[in-house]
Amino acid sequence: MAAKNNGTYIATAAAVLLVPIVLFLHTLSPSPLPLPKPYGGPLPSATPPKEIAVYSVIAGVNHRVEAFGYRGGSLFKRRDFSMVGALVKHPKGDLLIDTGFGRHIDEQFRTLPFRVRAITFYSLWRPAADQLRDIGYDPKSLHAILLTHSHWDHVSGLPDFSGVPVWVTAQEHEFIKKSGDMDFCRLFTGIRYEEYGFEGGPYLGFPASHDVYGDGSIVVVPAFGHTPGSVIIFVTLSNGTRYAFVGDLVWQLEGITDREERPWVTRRDADTNAEANRENLLRMIALKERMPELIIVPAHDMRGFAALPKLSNLSNSTAASP
Ligand SMILES: [Zn+2]
Ligand SMILES: [Zn+2]
Repeated sequence: MAAKNNGTYIATAAAVLLVPIVLFLHTLSPSPLPLPKPYGGPLPSATPPKEIAVYSVIAGVNHRVEAFGYRGGSLFKRRDFSMVGALVKHPKGDLLIDTGFGRHIDEQFRTLPFRVRAITFYSLWRPAADQLRDIGYDPKSLHAILLTHSHWDHVSGLPDFSGVPVWVTAQEHEFIKKSGDMDFCRLFTGIRYEEYGFEGGPYLGFPASHDVYGDGSIVVVPAFGHTPGSVIIFVTLSNGTRYAFVGDLVWQLEGITDREERPWVTRRDADTNAEANRENLLRMIALKERMPELIIVPAHDMRGFAALPKLSNLSNSTAASP
């Protein structure tokens, strides 16, 4: 009888331990979103200046595994997540989209909550401001830094760009003021945030838009969800090449190509409103169905950034902003 009781006890204990593990592993399994209808609206015209160009500025990496980035990814395959900025050269003023890791990432990192530090292993390569200096570009000559959103890994370098305005939506500015624990902005002083609105109409399936220079070359759309004021930045070159810098809408390109969201545990921790993020993800997937040539660049997908021209392609003679 005692042996039977012991057996029942062991079986119950095993079930109590195993069920949560099985359920957790299930949240990592493939679960593609339904394929939306291709975007059916108009394609906006753009008259980008011939000088407009985009360059990747990879400041470092987070060492992750695939499963961290999207459902269906392997728990055993390593994948480095890029920590980046992108320089957009435009005759009316150059912009830096996000900064990636900055010079003070080590001390900033120590302020993050334990739950983030415990699973984050990073390497700082070279901060964006130093990479710009390396090619003879004065970081202060940037017209502005345009944030996709204000999470720590996108704003770490802001203090390295003293005096350069930081463009944010009103919603993201409020989010910054509330100073969450995933945000470094609370550590910074003297940053000049400038808010912008969405005065333009619908754009490529998104409900509103902000055309930065009025020529259709740099157009920002609201994509709130990951944070309350997240945006997507479309950049169109004079040869018609069109990029979508989607920030953390997805962490890896499989979010678009395989329609796989972040796993539940990371959605829960990282997204302010996971449902709203999903809605915007479906908009991007619908757009990609219509425009296969659109180059989607998630902030943390190394493959997307590796495919962009490198900053070193800018020669010293042409680096200075007009
Ligand atoms: Zn983020
Ligand atoms: Zn991020």
